[in-house]
Amino acid sequence: MPPLIPSPAGAGRFAPSPSGELHVGNLRTALLAWLFARSTGRRFILRVEDLDRARAGAEEIQLRDLAAVGLDWDGEVIRQSDRTPVYLEAIAQLRAEGRVYECFCTRAEISDAPRAPHSPPGAYPGTCRNLSEAERERRRRERPPALRLRADVQEYTVHDVLHGPYTGVVDDLVLLRNDGVPPYNLAVVVDDAAQSIDQVVRGDDLLSSTPRQAYLASLLGLPPVEYVHVPLVLSESGKRLAKRDGAVTLGALAELGISAPETAELILTSLGLPGTLPEALKAFDPARLPLEPWIFTPPTAPSAS
Ligand SMILES: [Zn+2]
Repeated sequence: MPPLIPSPAGAGRFAPSPSGELHVGNLRTALLAWLFARSTGRRFILRVEDLDRARAGAEEIQLRDLAAVGLDWDGEVIRQSDRTPVYLEAIAQLRAEGRVYECFCTRAEISDAPRAPHSPPGAYPGTCRNLSEAERERRRRERPPALRLRADVQEYTVHDVLHGPYTGVVDDLVLLRNDGVPPYNLAVVVDDAAQSIDQVVRGDDLLSSTPRQAYLASLLGLPPVEYVHVPLVLSESGKRLAKRDGAVTLGALAELGISAPETAELILTSLGLPGTLPEALKAFDPARLPLEPWIFTPPTAPSAS
């Protein structure tokens, strides 16, 4: 693994999971991440988040589609699957500070556990926080443990360029799953710092996990980043856009005669920007971005009449 050279200028990034083709919503977020980075003189990095949900061949198609809408990026594409030792090192650092404990809970045990009346849904109830060594020894024979962070706050506040201050839940989040895979919240924090990323632009469905990540970054002594959580693209039913909604990928749109530059133009227009990337970059002003989701109606093949 080559060492990553930190750039004094900082960087932005797009970090897709190679689970399938990118759709119009993913491409819109990628274009926004690029515009935010390039308009502030930052480098732009592509990172493939392939610890989970990777599908053979998907990465190549995603990179091809990102280039087809006009995006360029700096340096080699980084893959999280190459970086497990770096994540384990971060866990070891927290462990040395007494901030890590073993958790033996199944998903069902977590959702069925009694919890405080005001504890937020989905937050870990702390079941394994104070097990005795004898109890841990017994449970290790039944099930490999996950590792959790011993958090000493219950909420944390981040600042978002579009949303302002945002306070969200922090619980004893998982640092290593019981199958040995580091989870998203840890990998993203470690990677952003290692790659000198100081601006994180992503879909606003991820805003609620941001306080956990910022808190974890602070414990690891990593520099804070600027967050920009951008509106999602929704289908006509008001749900997050998905493949089942019809022609929402570059491949499917091409079959209807809509080229990648035309799709890029459609997306840029939805942001109130000129339809080519160089023009959009000149005109880009975060203060004028639409803050509500974009409803995308997939085109259909012209019917013979
Ligand atoms: Zn547990």
